[in-house]
Amino acid sequence: MSGYQFNKKQFKQEVAGNVKKLYRRTIEEASPKQVFQAVAYAVKDVIIDEWIATHREYEKQDAKTLYYLSMEFLMGRALGNNIINIRAVKEIREVLDELGFDLNVIEDQESDYALGNGGLGRLAACFLDSLASMGYPAYGCGIRYKYGLFKQKIENGYQVEIPDNWLKDGNPFEVRREEYAALIKFGGNVRVECDSSGRNHFIQENYQSVRAVPYDLPVVGYGNNVVNTLMVWDAEPVDTFNLDAFDKGEYNNAVEQENLAKTIVEVLYPNDNHYAGKELRLKQQYFFISASIQRAVGKYKAKHSDLHKLPDKVVFQLNDTHPTVAIPELMRILIDEEGFSWDDAWAVVTKCCAYTNHTVMAEALEKWPIELFSRLLPRIYQIVEEINRRFVEEVRRIYPGGEDKVRSMSIIYDGQVKMANLAVVGSFSVNGVAALHTEILKKRVLKDFYGMMPWKFNNKTNGITQRRFLLHGNELLADWVTGKIGDEWITDLPYIKKLALFAGDEKCQQEFRNIKYQNKLRLVRYIKENNGIDVDPRSLFDVQVKRLHEYKRQLLNILHVMYLYNMLKDDPDMDMVPRTFIFGAKAAAGYRIAKLTIKLINSVADVINNDPSIKGKIKVVFIEDYRVSNAELIYAAADLSEQISTASREGSGTSNMKLMLNGALTIGTMDGANVEIVEEVGRENAFIFGMSADEVIACETNNDYNPMDIFNNDQDIRRVLMQLINGSYAPENPELFRDIYNSLLNTRSTDKADTYFNLKDFRAYDEAQWQVDKAYRDEAWWAEAAILNVANSGKFSSDRTVRQYIDEIWHLDKVEVSL
Ligand SMILES: *Cc1c(COP(=O)(O)O)cnc(C)c1O
Repeated sequence: MSGYQFNKKQFKQEVAGNVKKLYRRTIEEASPKQVFQAVAYAVKDVIIDEWIATHREYEKQDAKTLYYLSMEFLMGRALGNNIINIRAVKEIREVLDELGFDLNVIEDQESDYALGNGGLGRLAACFLDSLASMGYPAYGCGIRYKYGLFKQKIENGYQVEIPDNWLKDGNPFEVRREEYAALIKFGGNVRVECDSSGRNHFIQENYQSVRAVPYDLPVVGYGNNVVNTLMVWDAEPVDTFNLDAFDKGEYNNAVEQENLAKTIVEVLYPNDNHYAGKELRLKQQYFFISASIQRAVGKYKAKHSDLHKLPDKVVFQLNDTHPTVAIPELMRILIDEEGFSWDDAWAVVTKCCAYTNHTVMAEALEKWPIELFSRLLPRIYQIVEEINRRFVEEVRRIYPGGEDKVRSMSIIYDGQVKMANLAVVGSFSVNGVAALHTEILKKRVLKDFYGMMPWKFNNKTNGITQRRFLLHGNELLADWVTGKIGDEWITDLPYIKKLALFAGDEKCQQEFRNIKYQNKLRLVRYIKENNGIDVDPRSLFDVQVKRLHEYKRQLLNILHVMYLYNMLKDDPDMDMVPRTFIFGAKAAAGYRIAKLTIKLINSVADVINNDPSIKGKIKVVFIEDYRVSNAELIYAAADLSEQISTASREGSGTSNMKLMLNGALTIGTMDGANVEIVEEVGRENAFIFGMSADEVIACETNNDYNPMDIFNNDQDIRRVLMQLINGSYAPENPELFRDIYNSLLNTRSTDKADTYFNLKDFRAYDEAQWQVDKAYRDEAWWAEAAILNVANSGKFSSDRTVRQYIDEIWHLDKVEVSL
């Protein structure tokens, strides 16, 4: 690796100089927040030349470029990661020490960039890190939400959502790119004009428009001088004074345009894996997609004259169906603005677009009512209609009389525009995010598409960046690994396999345990400061941190805690390894049962944590405001990783990988990437339980599951369920958890109950948990298994995932940047 020499003296002067310039203060007088800003600007100064050089190199080589289109980028904090990737951690820590500041404290001043909900947005962030670190030309394209995912406060056990005003102190790393502003049009009507040559022209009129202005954020590659760009779009009102009288329209329209600009990027929708059908959401989608496609096409045209060859230089990856309007939008640009024929445009579009599916759950699939879609995007709707007309024609040609196929594959059906179908039809590649998930897509959810165009389908098992989640998040373990096997793992994670040689060594196990213990102490301090709860660092840290969703089954976990507590109440001397059950989860603001589950976890925690009779054998901690920055602390401290989704429901999961990389053992179902984790580490080094995906699906198909049978026959489960409605955890309001109780049992026989098989998997889960208990007592065994988990995590680097996307889908040109 080549690179610049980090100049400590100059950096130090710059930090002090920045404090003066920004705040009219000397460094001695500066607050940590002010020092954060000053350091961030100094780091930006280091980055900026590489940023310019990278893009000059891309231009020079005319490299094929990826545009990763995503409504979400869950970036976390930038400063610490940037310092890691310019490889100046040691030097900058020393500089700050000399100035009387602690780097960790300074890093804590930065807001998380919470421009995402969970796994999908974090995946996008990991991919950007890998692309830059591997030296590939790529833009992330997204929205500069004024408010990211809400901050979570727990008040009286309930989740309260607080707006995340992450930009209030400004963002030192961003650069506003006024010169690339684009105009985005909504609504109105389409007028058709026939010119003298007989060609139709489609003119959108009486529309409202907003101005999209991009802000660039640097994405720093690890030690390779490459700095890529995350381009996020802000909305501004168009300058109504500069429009001609016709466009200017009425005064009312001008006011509405102002409002549109204000509201469109106001806030990230807080739904994870759930489609809410909000009009503003579709506006957000078209807004950032139109702007991004316009910029990509504009950039291409600056160097090339023939747009027919766009696929040689540009590829768009659609992160879920949210960016699917990219397909008709590129059609519109090519046909309406560039004079392409339909067939020529379609040939280009279907060579440029590729689609990643993230979920098989029906409630997450986007289906826009035709009325809304065509009113908001009249020209785009016309194009979608024509795509659909031609596609249905083709289906009927291939399957004469196959009206069932027409029904399942139509893009427009039953008064709705089905975005997944549009994404499949308009893309040259369709991928799932784990082997099992891709198989379910092929066999079930997208079966007819797979039958008709099998070549489009492929798997890309998700991954995570070891640079943020080990090198940055777990410095002690990272240093230890490097001490044992060298630092190649930082850019080549499979190299970490070498650690397996040390797994059985007693001294190494002792060192590993000690590191885990230090990391647990760090989390104990965090919990004490943030939750006021005392936790024993010698207890087993049993961690379930992820969005709160019924399919992820936090409920199974807490019901099991209630069950253990009952056992301890019956027998306070029961022999069990002391455990701390750690939860962290945000629930979508409108997801009633999820929010009630948070309340239940906190109510159970209150009772258990304050009951001296169980002698501290169980503690329950709900960590407030789970987000990337505290996730890094939690992963490093975890002994046990809870990955207990209803089999077939989790696309991949990525916290399973992050926890494995940090030496936690998995207790989990055969779902998502858990299957592949177990393949890598061996079933004997994990705790696998419960129904398989096939069993779940068969059970649903046959409709032969009645949770009431379990309730009637298993007294322990019955007792736990009764405690939901007898005031055990809510003496002031025994009915409080009635809805959870009802969700588990069909009190009226027509209702579906326990849709996620909590009760059906309960006994298997309990058994697996006792195996954990037994295994944890054997310190040597546990340490060996934990080290083996780290050693076998190589497959789950996002470097591997991105490599596969590049080789099989994107075909990007690698670039070397030297300074
Ligand atoms: C990795 C990550 C997720 C995804 O977790 P899953 O358990 O895979 O759903 C969600 N939120 C944050 C903050 C993460 O870092």
